[in-house]
Amino acid sequence: MNREQTDLYGSLKKIFGFNQFKGLQEDVVNSVLNNKNTFVIMPTGGGKSLCYQLPALMKEGTAIVVSPLIALMKNQVDAIRGISENQGIAHVLNSSLNKSEIAQVKSDIEAGITKLLYVAPESLIKEEYAEFLRKQKISFVAIDEAHCISEWGHDFRPEYRNLKNIIKEIDNVPIIGLTATATEKVQEDILKTLGMTDANVFKASFNRPNLFYEVRPKTKDVEKDIIRFIKQRPGKSGIIYCLSRKKVEEIAQILQVNGINAVPYHAGLDAKTRVKHQDMFLMEDCEVVVATIAFGMGIDKPDVRFVIHHDIPKSLESYYQETGRAGRDGGEGYCLTFYSYKDIEKLEKFMANKPVAEQEVGHALLQEVVGYAETSMNRRKYLLHYFGEEFDEVHGEGANMDDNMRNPKKKHEAKDEVVTLLSVIRDTSE
Ligand code: ADP
Ligand code: MG
Repeated sequence: MNREQTDLYGSLKKIFGFNQFKGLQEDVVNSVLNNKNTFVIMPTGGGKSLCYQLPALMKEGTAIVVSPLIALMKNQVDAIRGISENQGIAHVLNSSLNKSEIAQVKSDIEAGITKLLYVAPESLIKEEYAEFLRKQKISFVAIDEAHCISEWGHDFRPEYRNLKNIIKEIDNVPIIGLTATATEKVQEDILKTLGMTDANVFKASFNRPNLFYEVRPKTKDVEKDIIRFIKQRPGKSGIIYCLSRKKVEEIAQILQVNGINAVPYHAGLDAKTRVKHQDMFLMEDCEVVVATIAFGMGIDKPDVRFVIHHDIPKSLESYYQETGRAGRDGGEGYCLTFYSYKDIEKLEKFMANKPVAEQEVGHALLQEVVGYAETSMNRRKYLLHYFGEEFDEVHGEGANMDDNMRNPKKKHEAKDEVVTLLSVIRDTSE
């Protein structure tokens, strides 16, 4: 190891307490330390934060971190402060601060104490902040959840589109973009919008070999199916996703009546109830949470053993994110989806009032969902292909971990074909 590498590992150990980098982290950190525009695509839980936190702490000046969720920013700032003696090492700049708090943030930045400054995109746009930051030594800008830039992502935020201009105005510093969304379209969009088609691109594998994927036809017995599935797994934790709040309440109640310890979670519940139900799930006071997509962002429960989609999601990105909450610890993670083409029509109908361009995107995304649900091929291969990744369905990790590979439909079909063939033979021989 040369001196720089020793420094890098020393800092990794001293600051984060880790002995090794995870996956591509070391290459990413080096790219940022070398002032290159850098683009990181890693699945959730891959360790993206360290990719900008470590270089920020090692470099001179303040790194600006753009992140869409205030709650996530607070968590990160608290974590960074926990490893330093000086609370000023990390700050959040947003609309919730009062005048004296803002003054404190500013003086810490001016004094060169602040290494990480977390900002919501809508705050960065504010002229008073931009003017202040223009005069400071900025090391680089990290854009977390960079897919928010793209309409092809699952979480488009219009404020993200203007970031490049603001960054240019503040200082022409390197940018590091990070996302867990792996589709080509989104990647291209991010690189173009951030004006960094020259970036070093680092893409980790999206394969989750311990997840089992199954898509089952959705019949009128779907609730019975779900109850049976859960009862076969006593004491195991799981999430059930539904499209509507009403469905969430309904399913939660049905489960409770059937002796399953389930709680509902959706944006229509008051904040106190939501926190309570989330905590119950995290603390194992209930086995199942029935939820809309409002549940899950930033929730890190390692031993979720199943994710059931009562209703199929509107894109494969969402499907991947939501099923990805199962088996974080590397243990069993069963992903069961109930599919009926009627649900696709329902999702199409929801889009009817949206602008035409948005409808077209939505329709294209839905077609991929249909393709995945109806395929008889290796589901992992299908999913990874969608994310631009080749998968070896013979030797790849988790190659037989789906319904199509375990019980090939082809067998039934093949049997049917034999029967038909036999009857044809019989017919013609008579
Ligand atoms: P992402 O943003 O990609 O979803 P995070 O940055 O939140 O992932 O990291 C996920 C988890 O991985 C965290 O608990 C973090 O502490 C852990 N982690 C990150 N890097 C390492 C490492 N080099 N060694 C061990 N654990 C790590
Ligand atoms: Mg992250």
